Amino acid sequence: MKTSTLVYQLPGARWRLLFGENVLRTLRSHVQRNSSSRESVGQLYSRDLTSDCIVVEQATVLTPTWAAWARVQFDPKRAATEREEKFKNGLHCLGLWHTHPEPLPNPSPEDKALARDHALSAKGQLTGLVFAIIGTRSMPAGLRVWIDDGEVLRLAESTSQNVVLP
Ligand SMILES: [Zn+2]
Repeated sequence: MKTSTLVYQLPGARWRLLFGENVLRTLRSHVQRNSSSRESVGQLYSRDLTSDCIVVEQATVLTPTWAAWARVQFDPKRAATEREEKFKNGLHCLGLWHTHPEPLPNPSPEDKALARDHALSAKGQLTGLVFAIIGTRSMPAGLRVWIDDGEVLRLAESTSQNVVLP
């Protein structure tokens, strides 16, 4: 049994967020499986923000300016340049992903501030900024997704609409 896509939804929200297979493969390849691992970070992109089912089509990996077992930093200018390049190819940035060395990840105070910053700067283009953290537990449990609308950071639920291939 292999999960090919995962769907997340905010309680009561009409729209859903679907993580495509190639995106999940990228995220899985960065799971922190041992104590010598470091956190990774990147951005999430979609071609269509108007659909009720927003498909995360690409997950990029940013070169960290600094990375440790339980902390990572990236260059916001480099991230902005990447967004401009992707936008030229019709891809909109939905938000950020990074890894945590814990089974069921939770955002640190620093993570929450980062999500809020990005949510506020994306206001008008996005309903909410997607903030995904990949823990060490296998997916879907290990992939936790929050949406920050600029005021509140809300945990999205992994729905039962996951497509399972034999
Ligand atoms: Zn974090």
